[in-house]
Amino acid sequence: MVKFLDLKAVTALHRDEIQEAVRSAVDSGWYLLGERVGQFERAYASYIGTKHAVGCANGLDALACIYQACLELGRMKPGDEVIVPANTYIASILAITQNGLVPVLVEPREDMLEIDPDRIESHITNRTRSLMIVHLYGRCAYSEKIGDLCRKYNLLLVEDNAQAHGCRWNGRRTGSLGFAAGHSFYPGKNLGALGDAGAVTTDDDALAAAVRAIANYGSSRKYVFDYCGRNSRLDEIQAAVLGVKLKYLDAENERRRAIARMYYSQIRNPRIHWPAVLPDEQNVFHLFPVLAEERDRLQQFLQENGIQTLIHYPIPPHKQACYRAWNGRSLPVTEKIHAQELSLPIGPAMTDADVETVIDALNRFGR
Ligand SMILES: *Cc1c(COP(=O)(O)O)cnc(C)c1O
Repeated sequence: MVKFLDLKAVTALHRDEIQEAVRSAVDSGWYLLGERVGQFERAYASYIGTKHAVGCANGLDALACIYQACLELGRMKPGDEVIVPANTYIASILAITQNGLVPVLVEPREDMLEIDPDRIESHITNRTRSLMIVHLYGRCAYSEKIGDLCRKYNLLLVEDNAQAHGCRWNGRRTGSLGFAAGHSFYPGKNLGALGDAGAVTTDDDALAAAVRAIANYGSSRKYVFDYCGRNSRLDEIQAAVLGVKLKYLDAENERRRAIARMYYSQIRNPRIHWPAVLPDEQNVFHLFPVLAEERDRLQQFLQENGIQTLIHYPIPPHKQACYRAWNGRSLPVTEKIHAQELSLPIGPAMTDADVETVIDALNRFGR
């Protein structure tokens, strides 16, 4: 049986060190707003290449805190529009609507699976204040063109870096390319905690201070509340785990790339396609998406051959009941991707034998 992602095996790669870090946090008697969070924040900011990293409870909150902070600081107003890819995970869009902002869905490029830079400009209105790019599947969504558009129209560039820890564009890490970025450390992400966790990175001092306050009830001094905030803090135990795992992130991303190279070079089946291959630095292979017209049959076939796969994602945001008003809209590229996408197993603990099992089954599909 090849699991989609064997989290037990992923944790086992650094089990002793993680257990020691957790034990030390447990024994410290200090569980929130302590030195382990501070240490991890400094290490993560230095890794990403930003002035600040602020721990949050999860990735959705990280993104939502960025937009709430933009509102509190007067950088945005309720009703402002935020351009966002139509084919993202629901959290990207929830972070916008939870703040009374208006998401404007833009189609992706079919060969890249990321927002189509050539379709952005026609969606910009006099209410557009921000562009959110999502480095989906671990693929860099940034480009020169996106930077130019943000400068030309004075848009706050927010990166959803939940799936792309360690990814780079021209040597700079994703998460440092815009005004601010939200990161998720959900256990299955490339940098995963043993529970929920997240962070905001930014070079902007005022934004960092506002996010830190908002995530702590809106308070920057005990029992003094500047904003109607929320409780969204990173805890000491998760910070201790993340501090261990961060040290191995680059090596684990390299292992993901090695697996991807095996897939690229050995899968030979006209029924199976994949998006354009990016330069190594621009892909940390959070997922390995393939596209197949007979996607559901392919998934079934792999299941019968002992291989677990997942679909990212079966229903696009504009067809979800939570966004009922958009249900009648037609976004054909997004819908096609959602109908054809299948994510193959990939992860730092996967063995070469597992990879070969997957390749062998894919090469037998439909023959
Ligand atoms: C996982 C994820 C999030 C949300 O992160 P949580 O920590 O689960 O809240 C946001 N955006 C994308 C693209 C994600 O994959």
